[in-house]
Amino acid sequence: MTTDTKPTILRPATEFTSSPLNAQIPAGPLEQKWERHKFEMKLVNPANKRKYTIIMVGSGLAGGAGAATLAELGYNVKCFCYQDSPRRAHSIAAQGGINAAKNYRNDGDSVYRLFYDTIKGGDFRAREANVHRLAEVSLNIIDQCVAQGVPFGREYSGYLDNRSFGGAQVSRTFYARGQTGQQLLLGAYQALERQIQLGGVQMFTRTEMIDLVIIDGRARGIVTRDMVSGKIERHIGDAVVLATGGYGNVFYLSTNAKGCNATAIWRAHRRGAFFGNPCYTQIHPTCIPVSGEHQSKLTLMSESLRNDGRVWVPKQQGDTRPPHQIPEGERDYVLERKYPSFGNLAPRDISSRAAKEVCDEGRGVGPGGLGVYLDFADAIKRLGLHVVKERYGNLFEMYERITGEDGYKTPMRIYPAVHYTMGGLWVDYNLMSTIPGLFVAGEANFSDHGANRLGASALMQGLADGYFILPYTIGDYLARGGIVKADTTHTAFGEVEGEAAQNMRRLLEINGKRTVDSFHRELGKIMWDECGMARNDAGLRRALERIPELRAEFWENVKVPGDFNELNQELEKAGRVADFFELAELMCVDALHRTESCGGHFREESQTEEGEALRDDDNFAYVAAWEFQGLGNKPVLHREALNYESVRLATRSYK
Ligand SMILES: Cc1cc2nc3c(=O)[nH]c(=O)nc-3n(C[C@H](O)[C@H](O)[C@H](O)COP(=O)(O)OP(=O)(O)OC[C@H]3O[C@@H](n4cnc5c(N)ncnc54)[C@H](O)[C@@H]3O)c2cc1C
Repeated sequence: MTTDTKPTILRPATEFTSSPLNAQIPAGPLEQKWERHKFEMKLVNPANKRKYTIIMVGSGLAGGAGAATLAELGYNVKCFCYQDSPRRAHSIAAQGGINAAKNYRNDGDSVYRLFYDTIKGGDFRAREANVHRLAEVSLNIIDQCVAQGVPFGREYSGYLDNRSFGGAQVSRTFYARGQTGQQLLLGAYQALERQIQLGGVQMFTRTEMIDLVIIDGRARGIVTRDMVSGKIERHIGDAVVLATGGYGNVFYLSTNAKGCNATAIWRAHRRGAFFGNPCYTQIHPTCIPVSGEHQSKLTLMSESLRNDGRVWVPKQQGDTRPPHQIPEGERDYVLERKYPSFGNLAPRDISSRAAKEVCDEGRGVGPGGLGVYLDFADAIKRLGLHVVKERYGNLFEMYERITGEDGYKTPMRIYPAVHYTMGGLWVDYNLMSTIPGLFVAGEANFSDHGANRLGASALMQGLADGYFILPYTIGDYLARGGIVKADTTHTAFGEVEGEAAQNMRRLLEINGKRTVDSFHRELGKIMWDECGMARNDAGLRRALERIPELRAEFWENVKVPGDFNELNQELEKAGRVADFFELAELMCVDALHRTESCGGHFREESQTEEGEALRDDDNFAYVAAWEFQGLGNKPVLHREALNYESVRLATRSYK
């Protein structure tokens, strides 16, 4: 995280290497790749599984599902999280739902349609084979969760109910009121607890991974800090999985929980794991607008609200009349006007930009003009108040608690906010990074969503990775052998532990004048202004000058009170913010090099006459995977070409 020197970066040296960027996509027709691959992968004999230990960092949907399933198969699993319980992983915050191509509604859905919608939604910047597998596996996820007792919403008939999410014209989103993530996490948690009880999983809560250990070219362990006692510990395994979530908090203000951070993946990146598409960030259109300078968190209003809520602003600039005084004819239902076939369910990147556009024109509503209305008056008239309450009651309640306004009586005010990161560590088809033995799952990897994620697809991906993909691909990796015997006395552990502890002690010694939060807030503002919803060459260059300056000031002037060997939340935060500084720079480098617009990456220089994102397929139809070269040195860009065999690259249209 800190030192100016280049940490030991070990080039993958074995036959399991994915370097340079071999995505390991299986041969054969798209719809047969995964089945065939499952057959061709090597298996570990049931009696041998107990000889292997797998380190799982993260116990959210991806990590919890993965840890439980691997232990159920017979592997020893060591699972880590920084919260006091796996149940508190950020996945718990997910509200709206989870996609699956079950076609219960008989409205034209299919595996292929979910695949196609995801590829198109990602603006043709995702790997076909992975996305098709995700759509296939989506069917199993729902069955698995129902079997666990997840209380999905049901229709009168007893069938599971579905609702619509952005970027799709079918209803394929399964939900448990506005608490889908929580209910799914409880399902995974129960499975995990069962294995903890049986001794298959050893759970380490309040424990933060602070670095990755590589032995003989393979990921073999982690160094952790006990967040209560400050004790540093070493853990060895035969493979390491990072399921550590997204890095949206690099922007300071986001819909992510305050604890979400990039430390695990960033430190693995510094040790040689390539970082895929770091600049792809999702800005969600449906959040409660920022209310003041001292706010530390933004709140998402679930996209499901756009099933029935209508987005509008006044037609006139500077119209400050209260919404009910603005007659119908003087309202601009902006998404319905611009995208008649998808209307209020246009994808997130497009809806966010539409909101920004009208606010930039001076037609925004609420304090500072940074808001648009989300109006339920028509839905209440059409369906009745009780139906709207039944569908979204907890969301209206949350809105009222935060804003003091009753969304049933007056339209909600919403504005885009940072929500999700499509970028993450680069992984091949087996979810293995460029470091052999280091697997990455869930939001922490870059995999399936291209340049824009469709709503309700993150839960699907996390559970697909954890329940259905990793358990096969890790087995194949282990079965191929070649993992040398080692223990935590290996010199690699000593070196990594020494570096990590030294960096933390250095933070404590600075004893400067500014708080960690003040640096984080300033970094976030730079990122939002220059690498947020719209980016341009000049702004990104400004950010690339300003971030290293601010980082240097951080290392000279930050104040981290308290001690090392105790509960010290400021120290935890300082380490994470130190990593955000480095990651922010890489995000700007990536955004600057990609001169096209695609999905959530909107380069102002590359837009159509109508202000839509303009891709440059001739020059940018690739995944950008960056290799760390030491702080202050230019990272090296590796390109994974995206070859589309099944879909035709087309201009995305939701009109
Ligand atoms: C408000 C909100 C609502 C959302 N709603 C939806 C929705 O309706 N549908 C949908 O599909 N998606 C939704 N998403 C996105 C989705 O919730 C996330 O992408 C997904 O839950 C991430 O799961 P994960 O398992 O990858 O990571 P997380 O759930 O974030 O879990 C990360 C785990 O890693 C651990 N960890 C991290 N770093 C370390 C470290 N250094 N050491 C030890 N442990 C570590 C944490 O303790 C935690 O256990 C929403 C996101 C937000 C913010």
